[in-house]
Amino acid sequence: MRRFGAKWGAPICDALEQTPVPVGSKCDHCGEKVRKDDAGVLIDSFSHDPGEVVLHWECHTRSIIGGVNHQLGRCHCCGGNQPPDPPELSLRRSAVMAVELWEGATSHEDAIAEIQQAVEREANRKVRA
Ligand SMILES: [Zn+2]
Ligand SMILES: [Zn+2]
Repeated sequence: MRRFGAKWGAPICDALEQTPVPVGSKCDHCGEKVRKDDAGVLIDSFSHDPGEVVLHWECHTRSIIGGVNHQLGRCHCCGGNQPPDPPELSLRRSAVMAVELWEGATSHEDAIAEIQQAVEREANRKVRA
């Protein structure tokens, strides 16, 4: 595993070899293309074509810490009825929010408010369509 972009606040950064940012490569979690200011990891994979998996660091971290609704204690594994990532948010935004919650950079109230806004936007969009 190698890392690219700015260091994030995890001890693992120091242990990883740095590699140029793979601008334009698709993140294996969120499907969004890596931009020049993004940070993340490259993981060698024998089953993947090309033989490297690219992940934003938030998307990689989300796979370890769990999704937003898991952080909020609302997902299936926590006894709730929500999928681990709120479907109204993009996977990328959801991964970033999961990390913010985990780091305490976002409060549960703020996260729930943002999800609620996304739900309402989605509902409005459906009414207009
Ligand atoms: Zn991603
Ligand atoms: Zn859970």
